[in-house]
Amino acid sequence: MDIKKNVSGYRLGVKKPQGGRGVENAPEFSGWVEQVRNLNTAYTLETGKTKKIKMDIFGCQMNERDSETIAGMLTDMGFEEVSKDKPADIIIFVTCCVRENAEERIYGHIGALSGECEENGAFIVSCGCMMQQPHVVEKIKKSYHNVKIVFGTHNIHTFPELLYRYLTKKKRIFEVWEKEDKVVEELPIKRTEKHKAWVNIILGCNNFCSYCIVPYVRGRERSRNMNDILAEIEALAKDGCKEITLLGQNVNSYGNDLGEKDLFAKLLYAIEDIEGIERVRFMTSHPKDLSDELINAMKNCKKVCNHLHLPFQSGSTRILEKMNRRYTKEKYLSLVSKIKEAVPNIALTTDIIVGFPGETEEDFEDTLDVVKKVGFDAAYMFIYSPRKGTPAAKLEQDIPSEVISTRFRKLLELQTEIATELAKKTEGKTLEVLVDGPSKQNPEILSGRTRENRLVNFKADNVNKGDIVNVEIIRAGAFWLEGRGGNKLG
Ligand code: SF4
Repeated sequence: MDIKKNVSGYRLGVKKPQGGRGVENAPEFSGWVEQVRNLNTAYTLETGKTKKIKMDIFGCQMNERDSETIAGMLTDMGFEEVSKDKPADIIIFVTCCVRENAEERIYGHIGALSGECEENGAFIVSCGCMMQQPHVVEKIKKSYHNVKIVFGTHNIHTFPELLYRYLTKKKRIFEVWEKEDKVVEELPIKRTEKHKAWVNIILGCNNFCSYCIVPYVRGRERSRNMNDILAEIEALAKDGCKEITLLGQNVNSYGNDLGEKDLFAKLLYAIEDIEGIERVRFMTSHPKDLSDELINAMKNCKKVCNHLHLPFQSGSTRILEKMNRRYTKEKYLSLVSKIKEAVPNIALTTDIIVGFPGETEEDFEDTLDVVKKVGFDAAYMFIYSPRKGTPAAKLEQDIPSEVISTRFRKLLELQTEIATELAKKTEGKTLEVLVDGPSKQNPEILSGRTRENRLVNFKADNVNKGDIVNVEIIRAGAFWLEGRGGNKLG
């Protein structure tokens, strides 16, 4: 990968030109940041106030991570971030289009803010995957007049420029790049947490599962340069970060687009040497790319947590083929056996779709069979909903909704039973927990995650957010564990 230094100090990891915007067209990011900051300074001198922003984030960890970049840019531009319940001058929506109900919720939230916008002269900025769809942008243009700036997943780094243009000209801006030919490095970032962090390693997806909109809205796979990733993790470690989660739609194919084989496994080994990092997680893994080298790396790297999120989606090979998943039920089960053999105390979690068009009772029985055979600690289960623009959306839904609901209930019951049984095995054990701080439900107690990614609520003295402690598990349910004590380990 050819790395060039941009005049304004931001670095573009430029991949081979693929017909999109190249480095020549890159805007001078820090120049735009400074221009907006000057506007904010002038406002503060005149009024004694600071312009406020708030963010509403939907969707997956990739969106959470993008939001940290947007928050970093806004901080550098001189804005103050406030919580969602406070009035703000600019409201940012980081949107998600993976499920239809998320889209509907977002329209609802944007519409509900029209009063706040009119009263305070506030305006809305909308970005994220949903904005990559032309029909969405058209709808916003026509029906949501308080949305003044729209940009997409490929041009987040142009936000300061768009904001400056809107603030000075007051004309609505809709700028969504269709192409994704570069990885922009060293954008500002405002991390949500200090003790744990998300680190992008690969953007986009090449897999085109027939039901999924992601490749259309996040583009093709673009791996970050390994040195850039390691430098980011080293900086995080120096700043007190103990746990990192490597992110990508399919982390297992990290490096394929750079012409390197098994680069993800090599990355895991390289992170082992970074002092201060105690835990490494990653998501999401596509079963077809889970190599023996990666399984070995999980076995050999002490910092890699014994947890793997491995979506199987359907237990039926026939349905998997219709989903374009490129593995069979047998292949999935043999991967699970391999990983269990290599990492005996591994916790497995998964995603499952119920009611994909054409799913018969027999196909569904295969799904139940996989759930029984694997024994997942947790599963994210969804009823199939078609996404406009995907091949599966053209398939006729031939399963009555009552049948789908019955299947879903059956699956949920089975999975909850299995998860409870597995969780019960932790009772009486002492587990290592990274403390996230007071529990959201009850601030009197602490909460954190085990290496298996189980949520633990516990009582302890002299324990703080970011500590790694030993906790004795006294009670366990399918979704959380209850513990006591907290001997500090780090
Ligand atoms: S691997 Fe499949 S489900 Fe996952 S993001 Fe890519 S296309 Fe979507």
